[in-house]
Amino acid sequence: MSFEIRILGEGEEDAGGRAVEVRLKAWPRADEDPTEDSLFFAAGDEEEILEAVSGLLRRGTAALPAPRRVTCRRCDLVFDAVAEGERRRPFVCRGCQDAAAGTPREPEQGLSGGAAGRGVEVRFLGAGNAFGAGGRRQAAIFLRVRGAAKGVLLDAGPGCHAALRGAGLDGEDIAAVVLSHFHGDHYGGLPFIELDALRTRRRDPLRILAPPGGAHRLAALRECLYPGLRPGFPEEVLELLPGESASLPDACGGGRALPFPAAHQPTRWAFGWKLQLGGRTLVYSGDTALTGRMLQESSGADLLIHECSGVSPLPGHTSHQEIVAARPRIRARRVLLVHAGTEVQRLPDPVFDLAHDGQRLVV
Ligand SMILES: [Zn+2]
Ligand SMILES: [Zn+2]
Repeated sequence: MSFEIRILGEGEEDAGGRAVEVRLKAWPRADEDPTEDSLFFAAGDEEEILEAVSGLLRRGTAALPAPRRVTCRRCDLVFDAVAEGERRRPFVCRGCQDAAAGTPREPEQGLSGGAAGRGVEVRFLGAGNAFGAGGRRQAAIFLRVRGAAKGVLLDAGPGCHAALRGAGLDGEDIAAVVLSHFHGDHYGGLPFIELDALRTRRRDPLRILAPPGGAHRLAALRECLYPGLRPGFPEEVLELLPGESASLPDACGGGRALPFPAAHQPTRWAFGWKLQLGGRTLVYSGDTALTGRMLQESSGADLLIHECSGVSPLPGHTSHQEIVAARPRIRARRVLLVHAGTEVQRLPDPVFDLAHDGQRLVV
């Protein structure tokens, strides 16, 4: 990604008759058109201008680059065009190429995180969607490697802190938070964990893994809900891009978290996550259309937690029709559906298990 920032003085070019214009161009990729943003100021407002420049940079960084997608003409699944190299037009994914050549891929073997072989406890604090369908809480899943001191919170929807307390846990039990994207039902509960740290006088660090723009989004949300609140403990926000990965804290038993692009919003980042911890591999979809990348990443995984928002197709989400149709290509050892709308919850035979609030399992 590259940026160009220009500060135009009075009378220059088309500064619009105002004293100073700050203009930002951001190129997410070298071969794409830039996005543009600009603001106007009175001359001499250096502090305001500096703040504006940093705000423009933040916005440019947070909004871009969104992955370019390409659809396989054989299986209709969506892939990241850059990762796939998009060698053939019309595009055919590698899975379909292998199938045509009679060499189906084997599931990945031997993936592991730290504390190999211990297993992972999975607790669904919130298995529901943004609308509270069926009375289910919004997205939050607590993971703990068996025997580890602390756990990982996968998304932090509103109400997650109350659910933690209801499960006999609290914010002190979490050493890492992994966020799929910045819709309220997936991260709106985080300030309450930060607030509760005042009560417990937390000193232990918290590592937050997030899509680009995470530090700014989280600080803005906290300031909105509790103006002036500052975490009194070391909080580290790691903003990752697909292809990067981050280690999970030792307190969680170690392991790694790897983001990959989800197909949820056209111009903003949303991630699915592959977590390798306790000798297990867990894949979480976040909110997304069903993608070929998701099937690749979850191949051989011990657990795939996938969203299923409706019965029939809806943009940026996965329908029950679609995930059932993809069943022969899903190679995770176990699948649990979350983010289910009312219609999905009422299906007499959902084919896959639907996770419910309070559900607890060990993989
Ligand atoms: Zn959602
Ligand atoms: Zn969403």
